[in-house]
Amino acid sequence: MKKHYTPPPVSECKLDRFSMFCVLCVIIVASVWLMTRPSKTGEGAQTTSPTPVAKTVSSPSGQKVHALETAYFREKAKVPEIWWLSDLPLNPEDGAFVQKMMDREKLVKNTLDRFRKVSPLAEQIHTKFGTFAVSVFLRGNASITIGQAHQIKQAGVEICFVAKKQAGTLEKSINAPSSLYWRSDWGMFVNAVEVPYSVFAGLLYHELGHGIRHPVSLTGKGYFTPDSSEYVAEEIEMHRLETLVFNEASGGIFEKTIAEIMLRNPKALHVTEVMAGVTLDDLGKLDRSIGADKAGLETSQLLFAHYMIAIGTAYSDLKSLGIMEQISMFRWLNREVFDVPVKM
Ligand SMILES: [Zn+2]
Repeated sequence: MKKHYTPPPVSECKLDRFSMFCVLCVIIVASVWLMTRPSKTGEGAQTTSPTPVAKTVSSPSGQKVHALETAYFREKAKVPEIWWLSDLPLNPEDGAFVQKMMDREKLVKNTLDRFRKVSPLAEQIHTKFGTFAVSVFLRGNASITIGQAHQIKQAGVEICFVAKKQAGTLEKSINAPSSLYWRSDWGMFVNAVEVPYSVFAGLLYHELGHGIRHPVSLTGKGYFTPDSSEYVAEEIEMHRLETLVFNEASGGIFEKTIAEIMLRNPKALHVTEVMAGVTLDDLGKLDRSIGADKAGLETSQLLFAHYMIAIGTAYSDLKSLGIMEQISMFRWLNREVFDVPVKM
């Protein structure tokens, strides 16, 4: 479950000396996207980033799923997170930095091409965002975009990576809700953390799916509030897309494993009972199906939420449940599991 972002009021956007230097680069156009990015001044229209609120688990099923989450996260916290970009380069034309960014550009391009056929929405994403620009977050409203000037101009979306050092600043300055999210005043934001390829593919399609439903606009307006049914319905839609990508990447093993978990408890009267029956071993199987068994905590937090939602949507399909029941399942997970602080 990825969160979205409400930008705080920003008083002004100005180019600093570093940014000006970037604009003036000739061979590698390390430009600042401010030319096209709307000002973030004014009220945010995207969903708010939820303020963590200490809640208590109320149902026995909720307690079981939360205990599973805690055990899973404790294991994952032992794995060191690997950042492929720890800080901004002193010079944006630095060869090693440019190479890293070009490698990411290639990765995004190949991924968009490879999974375009998993659904009509994926095809739409490929069409709309097949041309894109990669950048690295600088500060405030600014990022350094890598590429030729004409490519940057034609880009359908900016995919903005956040280096380790800036991630801390960003979290404080804008209350970044997650290591990964869509901003309808900017584009896709993702921490420069190494993630397994299949995971990257699923997350990329998920976020760009939000980009189809909420294109970058001058006002950044149009996002639903997190307590609305529309918000949850869109999350479910994107998690379904993510499942399709994971399944394709795993050669069909991901959905097969989800089905096995779901069908193991045929007497379950409710989806929460099915979720309560999930084990660490099940999570390990799902991890292995997408090459995420060695993923760190940051990635695994996203995956745990996705696994639960994927089990929930598969159960909903099996029982022909409607969207309102799926929304209620999603809210139950939020209330009783995801929003409950994990004691590490
Ligand atoms: Zn989402």
